[in-house]
Amino acid sequence: MDGMKRILVTGGAGFIGSHLCERLLTDGHEVICLDNFYSGSKQKIRHLIGNPMFELVRHDVTMPYYAEVDEIYNLACPASPIHYQFNPIKTIKTSVMGAINMLGMAKRVKAKILQASTSEVYGDPDVHPQVESYWGNVNPIGIRSCYDEGKRCAESLFVNYHQQNGVKIKIVRIFNTYGPRMEINDGRVVSNFIVQALRGEPITIYGNGMQTRSFQYVDDLLEGFVRMMGTADHITGPVNLGNPEEYTMLELAREVKDLTGSTSPIIYQSLPKDDPMRRQPDIQVAGELLNGWKPLVPLRVGLARTIEYFDNLLSVRPG
Ligand code: NAD
Ligand code: UDP
Repeated sequence: MDGMKRILVTGGAGFIGSHLCERLLTDGHEVICLDNFYSGSKQKIRHLIGNPMFELVRHDVTMPYYAEVDEIYNLACPASPIHYQFNPIKTIKTSVMGAINMLGMAKRVKAKILQASTSEVYGDPDVHPQVESYWGNVNPIGIRSCYDEGKRCAESLFVNYHQQNGVKIKIVRIFNTYGPRMEINDGRVVSNFIVQALRGEPITIYGNGMQTRSFQYVDDLLEGFVRMMGTADHITGPVNLGNPEEYTMLELAREVKDLTGSTSPIIYQSLPKDDPMRRQPDIQVAGELLNGWKPLVPLRVGLARTIEYFDNLLSVRPG
């Protein structure tokens, strides 16, 4: 097929990665999904196994890997605070050694490589909304630093491989993204609130619920990924990809209660250390570079789709 590419997706058996594999197959490409199943699972890509355009590889990105590919989406890294704080040293190794290994491979096979960076590089921001030119406010020795600093170091590696070795890089900074295929016990706020509401259990707000996040539906992110990968070689990013609609956690809890019709009480628990107070992307750069890209799925629509997913899942796996 004209324009068909062979594409490697690291972390392809995770929440975002599984949707990305599906999207790239739909676009007519060949996909290699690489994962060590640390926070992802075969379940998420089971429906793709057997597709002759799809290959699944069990591999850890902290070890070198080699395949002749045209493009690499580097997503391997646990994203939920519970998962990335469980083994912080491994989290740093995954971000840093994973970046080195994938960049080395990209250099060798002359592949374009996109890094799934994060709004966490801005830390607890004192510039609001966050623009790409803001350098961030990260605690380098705090409980989130294994993730935040790992991702910051990965960005540095990407830029240096580009400048020193001419590797074609694309850095996107992803803001909180949600949708079907998040794990029931993922620990992130959207899945927690939905599962709690559907089970009739208390909805756990950490802190006073006045901290904010801006939630992006996964399909909007994928469109941004694909457009970013398709940009001219001199465009490297970083580019923010997120939905600028900003909500407090209390507002989110109320939306979820309303959409599920749940009678769950809202309860307040202690706020984890270094939890950022505000987060909202400035997406002007994305709009300019990515052909007018902007998120299309409003929170209530995305939440409704995610609730439907969890509702089905809980009826099969009630425990
Ligand atoms: P996820 O935990 O569902 O997916 C991560 C995947 O990477 C999992 O399948 C996991 O098994 C795999 N993985 C972890 N360590 C690995 C290793 N050493 N070798 C190979 N595979 C490994 O998380 P997600 O939400 O799908 O996030 C995907 C990427 O996007 C991550 O890099 C994350 O940092 C980034 N991101 C996500 C969000 C979000 O809101 N979901 C926000 C910012 C950035
Ligand atoms: N949060 C919450 N209740 C939960 C899980 C998370 O109030 O059950 C809060 C958390 O303290 C944070 C926000 O929701 O302020 C987003 O948390 P998440 O772990 O989803 O993402 P991140 O903090 O990495 O943006």
